[in-house]
Amino acid sequence: MNQIVFEIFQWFSKNGRNLPWRNTKDPYKIWLSEIILQQTQIIQGQAYYEKFVENFPTVNALANASEEKVLKLWQGLGYYSRARNLHKAARIIKTTYKGKFPDNYVDILQLPGIGEYTAAAISSFAYHMPYPALDGNVYRFISRLYNIDAAIDEPKNKKIYMAVLTELIHNQDPAIFNNAMMEMGALVCKPALPDCKNCCVANYCEALKSGTIAKLPVKNKKLTIKNRYFNYLFIDYKNGFYIEKRTGKDIWENLYQLPLIESLKPLDISEIAEAISKELSIQSTLPITLDKEVKHVLTHQKLHTRFWILKPEKQPQFKNNDIIFTDRLKYKKLALPQLIANYLLHL
Ligand code: SF4
Repeated sequence: MNQIVFEIFQWFSKNGRNLPWRNTKDPYKIWLSEIILQQTQIIQGQAYYEKFVENFPTVNALANASEEKVLKLWQGLGYYSRARNLHKAARIIKTTYKGKFPDNYVDILQLPGIGEYTAAAISSFAYHMPYPALDGNVYRFISRLYNIDAAIDEPKNKKIYMAVLTELIHNQDPAIFNNAMMEMGALVCKPALPDCKNCCVANYCEALKSGTIAKLPVKNKKLTIKNRYFNYLFIDYKNGFYIEKRTGKDIWENLYQLPLIESLKPLDISEIAEAISKELSIQSTLPITLDKEVKHVLTHQKLHTRFWILKPEKQPQFKNNDIIFTDRLKYKKLALPQLIANYLLHL
């Protein structure tokens, strides 16, 4: 066995975390965990994983659920397209594969929401196929261990990293190999504070020798953040308030929110009154109160949100037919962006 792989396996056998999805060969549960853990910390992801397994113990149970129920369980995890794709893929598995999870890399890769990394993770963990799983942790670890400065966000460079991993995984247990490589990146070769003193492969680490750790991994692209200005209206009427379903290809598709007016800059009270009467056709003379301001940061967007309260005496009429009334209990069953759920909790 390659000495580097040997050291990593030894370290992993003593230090690998005992996570529920590591104790199963069920491809459905492995897939669930992989999708939940994209963009999510393990501690938060674990609670969602358990909730999903409890509510949908099989892929057919997930396929038979309504999208609303899936989105509601996903509430708070963000990146809701993951939940929609999970549901779509479960339905494909039910109809095309008769409820049996596909057992080869190519078919797994065809499912919605599954990229090369996830297909490799499922193939190796559930079926012991030697596909290296290259996630952000592994990119960082490999780029430092071998002092590779090819940018990790350039798709053409992926083959450089894959070539290294393909050689290392050869003749190894692919499930242990992939888990151990990811765990090294997550627990030892961390982004800002790599624990080189306690690293089992420090003697082999090229970046440590060359003093290049802080420069690796190289990324070329800068993340551009778009500022958006959201004005949410809490229209307080009788024992409830008004909500609408988000439609269109944008964040939080198909989730429910308070009626929204999006603007190009922050609106003051007279501007919001004008916008309300124009867009929603409720009386512009209605008293309006600014209740709360929240900055909500997503990966590519910063939402500057203002929550306004209106208390109409008469039932308001809306131009937009999608705005519906809900009482103060019913809305809890709906899938809401966490921003809205937190605001309603505050009320
Ligand atoms: Fe990462 Fe440091 Fe180990 Fe090198 S020695 S692989 S930089 S933790």
